[in-house]
Amino acid sequence: MTADPEAALGDARARVLHDLSATLPTTPLVIDALDTAISERRNWVEPWPEGAAFLACLVAQDVQEVIAPSVGRWPRCRTNGDHTLHVEPDLGEDPSWVCKDCSAVVASIGEL
Ligand SMILES: [Zn+2]
Repeated sequence: MTADPEAALGDARARVLHDLSATLPTTPLVIDALDTAISERRNWVEPWPEGAAFLACLVAQDVQEVIAPSVGRWPRCRTNGDHTLHVEPDLGEDPSWVCKDCSAVVASIGEL
């Protein structure tokens, strides 16, 4: 696999931005959280280009963590708003949003 880290960062940003836009008001705070995650993952992937395949997976989890204190749990389950979706696998090439409470795969990252 020959993933170009910069292309993979752009892809990860586009996918997570899509999911944010589909589910939240994209305030500057939310966009800033995404761009901070992208910039930190750029430093992370530089010494390990093979990690590029995992960027969408990791950026989605980074953003979840960063916006939790301000925005709260994100994203919510479509079936039950008390449920929070999780990224599965934790480190994988084809990550999805999963609701553990519903035991359901909700969408691929980028397709919420
Ligand atoms: Zn659920």
